[in-house]
Formats: sequence, structure tokens, C-alpha cells
Amino acid sequence: MEKRDYYEVLGLTKSASKDEIKKAYRKLSKQYHPDLNKEPGADEKFKEIAEAYEVLSDDQKKARYDQFGHEDPNAGFGGGGFGGGGFGGFEDIFSSFFGGGGRRQDPNAPRKGDDLQYRMNIKFEEAIFGKETEIEIPKDELCDTCHGSGAKPGTQPETCSTCNGAGQVNQAVDTPFGRMMNRRTCSTCQGTGKIIKEKCSTCRGAGKVQKRKKIKVSIPAGVDDGQQIRVTGQGEPGVNGGPAGDLYIMFRVQGHKEFERDGDDIYYELKLTFPQAALGDEIEVPTVHGKVKLRIPAGTQSGAQFRLKDKGVKNVHGYGTGNQYVTVKVMTPEKLTEKQKQLLREFAEISGDIPEEQGSSLFDKIKKKFQGE
Ligand SMILES: [Zn+2]
Ligand SMILES: [Zn+2]
Repeated sequence: MEKRDYYEVLGLTKSASKDEIKKAYRKLSKQYHPDLNKEPGADEKFKEIAEAYEVLSDDQKKARYDQFGHEDPNAGFGGGGFGGGGFGGFEDIFSSFFGGGGRRQDPNAPRKGDDLQYRMNIKFEEAIFGKETEIEIPKDELCDTCHGSGAKPGTQPETCSTCNGAGQVNQAVDTPFGRMMNRRTCSTCQGTGKIIKEKCSTCRGAGKVQKRKKIKVSIPAGVDDGQQIRVTGQGEPGVNGGPAGDLYIMFRVQGHKEFERDGDDIYYELKLTFPQAALGDEIEVPTVHGKVKLRIPAGTQSGAQFRLKDKGVKNVHGYGTGNQYVTVKVMTPEKLTEKQKQLLREFAEISGDIPEEQGSSLFDKIKKKFQGE
């Protein structure tokens, strides 16, 4: 693509004054700032504007550009000298000029505030059924006294005279490829582009104050461990009138003493006695939705699984409801009375399967002692 004339990019003529250049840049960079303008191509346009301003705002570079245009062999960037020449370092130099999409170009441009992340512990049932709740988090809020300017009420921050409000100053560096312009943060204003003569007493010039803020949170029904929601506009305040960042809340779901959750399904272990498993039974099984009757057919094996349809978790995105799976565990009786033993021996005899009886092993006896039995 043909490189456009820098004056044309800023909508100016060659006779434009320093002030006009700055004004045009401010207006256009705000219009095409990638944080504010999501239209395709805005990012490219913003870079083009930043590059034009980079040159036209610098007396030396402007003079050279006026003389040579884009053909300046010593321009140091953007010119013909390095195009596709395989100089590995060039890309790096170029991108540091424009600090990742030009974010650092104008400290006065509106910027979105930082996003915040918050981890929230919730109970097993709260995750399944959702809940309206409130959290209190420490976060920066725009200072009410100065409305974010940092200046004492009735006064205004002044434009830094060292960097003319750009927040950065240019420094010429000689390299083997010619003279390069390096940018560094202005030390007078620490890169803000502004000097606050009389600071706001509430925030001491910071423009923001830390507060504990209560935020309403609705836990979505069906949310799972590790999932997060975004609360728009509850992050850090924006800079120079930009929008506030967002708050991300990540849910940590506690375990349950009876249920285990896997996605939208819930697993439950049902202990049955040997007669229940052998003869069958009807049992009330707990689910998160209340008790449900479950018929256990005669001859049920340990490990058998039953499905309670739709007794799991309602999907957080509305895709149906999970099931509860009931896994049977047949318990072998550990302590038997003499009568019970006698009946079991009779049972075995009828079955034609007479065991060679052993006591509990020595190891088990010791273990039981430790368990207080
Ligand atoms: Zn203040
Ligand atoms: Zn400065």
C-alpha cells in the first residue's frame, strides 16, 4: 500500500502550525483509539495517525520530512531504508516507538480502566440453584472531590511544558542505520503529560481513592467450579474520562458430603445390605431436588448404577438438565450375633457353599482398636 502523506493523514496542509498539528492528532487519535473504536481498520488508522504525529510533532523530523517526504534515507523508520530488508531489530524498534498499538502515544487520550478479578467461594447448592448475593471488595474509585483530575477543586491540571503534554520526550540516538529517535517517559510529569500544581486533598493528586465497595452478584444457577462471570464497569476507573474496566468473578464451588458433581450430572453412592440387594427394596434416595423413591430390583449387584432422570443440575447455558446416578454398594455385615451367624450358615448350607470360617485378620483387629471399636 502506498504510504499516505503525513499531513493528509492528519487532515492538514503543509502550512499547519504546531498547535494545529497537535489538535488534529488529539481529535483523530480519540476517534480511532482501539479501546474506543471497534470498527475494522480503526487500529491501522490509529497507528497511521500516531506515526504521522510522531514525525510532524518533532521539529527535526518534520523539517526532514518536509524536505524529503517518505524517501528520506535517514528517516530511521517508516522510510524506504529498511523495508523488508531482513533486519531483525527493526520490528522491535518500530513497535517500541508505538508502544503496542499506540497506547502510550497520548497520555491525555481516554483509556479503559483495568479489569479486576475476584475469586468467590460458594456452596454446592448455591452453584446448582444460583443466588443473589453481595460482595465487598477493595477497589479504586474515581475521587468525588476532584472527579478524577487530581487537582484541587477550582484548579485544573496544567499541560507539562517539558513534553508539551505528550508524556514522552524524544531523544536522538546514532545507530549504524542512521539517526534513530528514541522515546522515553517524561521525567517532569512521569508520563502523565500533566502537572498538578495544587493537589486535591482527598486523593493527594491521584484522582482516585481506594474504597470498599459493595457489589451485587447474581450467581447463575448451574455454574460450575472454575467458571467466571463478568460484571461490566466494576473494574478500576477509566483514565481521562475513559470507561471503567470490568470485574471478573470466578467461582470456586465447595464439595458436598453426599454428592459428587461432574458437569451437570450428580453421583451418589447408595449403601445396601445384603438382604436388600438380594431380595430387592424400595428406598428413598436424597437428591438436590429432594427425596426420590428408587426401586431396587431383587438380585442387585454391588456396583450397579441407576439413573434418576433430570435430578441433576440445570445447565447454566440452558441446555437441559443433568441426571443423578445412584451407584449401589452392598455392605458386608462386620459384627454378627450368634443367631445371625447360625442363619447364615444355614443359608450357605442350602446354597451348597459352606465356607471355611476365619476370624477377622490380626491386622483388622488392630485397625479396629485404633478406630475405637
Ligand atoms: Zn481528588
Ligand atoms: Zn512531561
